[in-house]
Amino acid sequence: MSLSSVPPRDSNKAGGQGVQDCWFRRVNPSNLRDVHYYGASVPFPTPDPDLAARLIRGRGDVEGLFSEARRLRDEGRGKTITFSRKVFVPLTTLCRDKCTYCTFAKPPGAGGEYLEPEDVMAIARAGETYRCTEALFTLGDRPEDRWQQAASFLARHGCDSTLEYVARMTERVLVETGVFPHANPGLMDDDEIAMLRPSNPSMGLMLENSSPRLLEPGMPHHDCPDKDPGLRIETIRAAGRERVPFTSGVLVGIGETIEELVESVFVLRNLAAEAGAIQEVIVQNFRAKADTPKRHDAEPTVPFFARVVAVARWILGPEMNLQVPPNLTEGFEAYLDAGINDWGGVSPLTIDWVNPEAPWPHLDELRTRTEAAGFELRPRLPVYPEYIDAEWIDATLLPKVEAAVDDDGYALAPEMEAA
Ligand code: SF4
Repeated sequence: MSLSSVPPRDSNKAGGQGVQDCWFRRVNPSNLRDVHYYGASVPFPTPDPDLAARLIRGRGDVEGLFSEARRLRDEGRGKTITFSRKVFVPLTTLCRDKCTYCTFAKPPGAGGEYLEPEDVMAIARAGETYRCTEALFTLGDRPEDRWQQAASFLARHGCDSTLEYVARMTERVLVETGVFPHANPGLMDDDEIAMLRPSNPSMGLMLENSSPRLLEPGMPHHDCPDKDPGLRIETIRAAGRERVPFTSGVLVGIGETIEELVESVFVLRNLAAEAGAIQEVIVQNFRAKADTPKRHDAEPTVPFFARVVAVARWILGPEMNLQVPPNLTEGFEAYLDAGINDWGGVSPLTIDWVNPEAPWPHLDELRTRTEAAGFELRPRLPVYPEYIDAEWIDATLLPKVEAAVDDDGYALAPEMEAA
């Protein structure tokens, strides 16, 4: 997929407000200038794919890259680092795909199953007790297309699809608890996003990588229909049309080339400009897991991955919320130096079901280490402050969202201490 495959558009479903207007409302065009300056008066080049690849390889002005990444973050996001206090709801561990790095998905009889409604509600209520504000619904993609057991479960519960079950459960969580759902249910079309919008102030889908090469035999996404990058890009576009704040990102180290990684970040930048819906970009490092075909693959080193993060900030610009999960690197402060402004969802209660070997830091530790690096740590809802308005949040949901945030749009701070 070439960069030109994500062309700018000049209209959207919202009508009355063009995509360009929307983009410029959130991103000051003066930030898109030709030359950035850091330090005294040394120019740093504008983002360029070839230079980005060189910098990721550690060649060229890497020190200048990090300075520029920090400068851009400070300019756009200041010294505030955010996180979302969450519980993890693994709605179903059945999936129709077979990604070669995944231990989340399991077949029937080997751990592949759905959570019953009362299991979901028990997790959400426990999250409420722990003063969480996000219920992250993570699940396999359309398992009913592959597994009869999935179709039977859905039929028993009166649902035609897993996405319908997601809608039903996110509605219950929203109505019965003070926790806000954030659904990550895989590919969606406009109608499916619209179905989930009243119960989800935000949603997400990782792009992972924009290269269709990763679908080929022997590659990590072979026989994974939901990992077709063209389809994932269409889901992100649909989120823009439906005006849903959307989380996406790249997964680094799964077999892509550096050029493919750079192109993926440019694709996300272009999608953010086009659709306006990308509220944050996650840069996530691959972790090799036992019992997977990629268990012997090398993981990205911290210096390499930090360069990827800094390049992402350089490409995405000052306003984008840039996240690195803090539980996948021991010395996670390294990414503050690379220009991030968010740690993502951190749970005082549930494990990271996608990376179960990697416990989240205690929230007090996260605060201590973030503050020691010179930043303020603030809790946010799954939706970022700049998206809390009538354009982006369903009218039935907006009053509850507004009641849960302070004047700056951050979560009415639960005390940091867990429990
Ligand atoms: S789509 Fe997600 S849940 Fe399914 S196999 Fe791939 S990584 Fe695992």
